[in-house]
Amino acid sequence: MRTITLINGDGIGPEISDAVVKIIDASGLKINWDIQTAGADVIESEGTPLPGRVLDSVLKNGVALKAPVTTPIGKGFRSVNVQLRKELDLYANLRPCKNLPNVKTRFENVDIVVVRENTEDLYAGIERQVDENTAESIKLITREASERICKFAFDFAVKNNRKEVCVVTKANIMKLSDGLFLDSYRKVAEDYPQINKREILVDNLCMQLVQDPTRFDVLVLPNLYGDIVSDLTAGLIGGLGVAQGANIGEKCAVFEPVHGSAPDIKGQNKANPTALLLSAVEMLNYIGEKHYAQKIENALFKTLSGNIKTVDLGGNASTVEFTERIIKNL
Ligand code: ATP
Repeated sequence: MRTITLINGDGIGPEISDAVVKIIDASGLKINWDIQTAGADVIESEGTPLPGRVLDSVLKNGVALKAPVTTPIGKGFRSVNVQLRKELDLYANLRPCKNLPNVKTRFENVDIVVVRENTEDLYAGIERQVDENTAESIKLITREASERICKFAFDFAVKNNRKEVCVVTKANIMKLSDGLFLDSYRKVAEDYPQINKREILVDNLCMQLVQDPTRFDVLVLPNLYGDIVSDLTAGLIGGLGVAQGANIGEKCAVFEPVHGSAPDIKGQNKANPTALLLSAVEMLNYIGEKHYAQKIENALFKTLSGNIKTVDLGGNASTVEFTERIIKNL
């Protein structure tokens, strides 16, 4: 039986993790979940929101499913999500955005994959208070990380029969940092004659995405633009409740939804488990369990098509009712 790390998170994390574990179990696939707690709840007992045991577990098992973990504000701790990606060198953040059956949105035929660099940019955490009224954050971009993520995006495009990889920067203003990212893209692109190339500025991309998202295929972006644009693309397909994600490195992979811990709806049996479930489906594909991945996706699509939806999608099903219906449809 395969052992997989489960970081069940906080906020709505435990509710949606519980739902997803039940669905996978009901599909007939047996997984030994190595449950690892992290976040604000473990700070008192272990002195850190991200204890070494969590990292050890992911490295040992090679794969993790992760629900959102809240970053405690003002306590001097870095975001668990950011730290986890950095410590495990999960350099590629993959966020596919595709319309779901019977989830009405402004546009049909949206099928965009956001490939976000995950280890540097303004997320490097290099900040200082210059004086009482001035703060400074350093935007760190290296050729090594930029070439690595661009290569990942092109390899993804080739493997998945995608036609185009578009690089997104603000290189007209940040000529050195974004300029280096753009230059790395151009260099890597030479090795992929079969894939269309395209360069766009991030502001223009945002405008075009809300005018007609079907103009875009695979996007590759530095960390911060990737964070913002992937929330925008989540909005194009029904919102954060359905937006899946994966963080991939050389040694391991962590599958997690785009959304945060949604403390505003915590414990209300209202959260949509779809984003975590679709992340889990990708995880099953990643470990080669394609039969179960397909079975679970079919049951989810059948449930949505039958008009059983959670509140965020305009329905009135609770997390538990939605989960039970998916299980029935398996
Ligand atoms: P973070 O900064 O950690 O990404 P955030 O502040 O962007 O978090 P989220 O926690 O992602 O915020 O939530 C943003 C909004 O989306 C909230 O109103 C929340 O209730 C809603 N939301 C997020 N995830 C879900 C979900 N799975 N089901 C229903 N609503 C959700």
